[in-house]
Amino acid sequence: LFPYTTLFRSHLSDIMKGALKNGEFVPYYQPKVNMCTGDTVGAEALVRWIRPDGEMQMPGSFLPFFEQNGFIVEIDLHIFEETCRLMKEWADSGIAVKTVSCNFSRRHFKNPSFARQLAGIADRFGVPHGLLEVEITESIVMEDIYSVRKCFGQLKELGFKLAIDDFGAGYSSLGLLEQLDVDVIKLDRSFIRSESKKIKEEIVVRGVVAIASELGMEIVCEGVETKEQADMLVRVGCLIAQGFYYARPMPAGEFRKRLHGAQ
Ligand code: C2E
Ligand code: CA
Ligand code: CA
Repeated sequence: LFPYTTLFRSHLSDIMKGALKNGEFVPYYQPKVNMCTGDTVGAEALVRWIRPDGEMQMPGSFLPFFEQNGFIVEIDLHIFEETCRLMKEWADSGIAVKTVSCNFSRRHFKNPSFARQLAGIADRFGVPHGLLEVEITESIVMEDIYSVRKCFGQLKELGFKLAIDDFGAGYSSLGLLEQLDVDVIKLDRSFIRSESKKIKEEIVVRGVVAIASELGMEIVCEGVETKEQADMLVRVGCLIAQGFYYARPMPAGEFRKRLHGAQ
């Protein structure tokens, strides 16, 4: 499925643990922006692998392999922990910290102590659970709705926020909204990508936004790259965007400055 040669696989297996210990897996933060006010309302943590020579690897080049061999579980928890550590640091220096979301592999949802594990990490740094959001893709939900619902119930009880990622990318969709008690829906960028069917696209997005809003969910649109897309989203009532038009994923230091500057 993935273009990994045997040599490359064994190379990755050999170096991954050392790289984690060495601090080579770092979170970048992509702001979520209120399109009407320009305010940064939160961020998503996205892993980057910075090799000792300074070369940066994007998640697409290593996560599929770590998903297969299970190492992704450690990466996810590391990024979550780093995020908690940074949020504490920001709060300690007087910055008003915003909600940050982290991505979690399907592998966590089989683990009955996942929710407790996250709480343990957050509590170690004293980060309020309500400022932490767990993103899980629509496809994972569809695969095993039973485990996911159970796990979501536990996370919710502990006060974490829940988000469905890549919503609308697959064949799930609207029925999911009534089956899961989530806080945030992240509209997949395929919703706003079309060049030719713009009017239909707007009608569909308007409908999804209306349903999710009535169910009390917040809607974030991913992959907003142009002013035209932003204008359309605001027109249909989706006010929060995450995309290159507003900001690219950035190192923690840069994101911190952005939060600081906003005060
Ligand atoms: P995702 O969760 O859907 O994250 C959004 C991806 O879209 C990011 O890619 C981001 O850089 C990219 N993006 C944001 N705005 C735009 C835009 O306007 N246009 C375009 N074309 N792309 C945009 P990235 O950082 O390469 O991450 C890719 C995927 O890797 C993520 O997709 C997520 O599924 C996974 N991932 C990243 N970090 C983690 C992690 O710590 N744990 C797990 N389990 N998965 C992760
Ligand atoms: Ca995500
Ligand atoms: Ca996504």
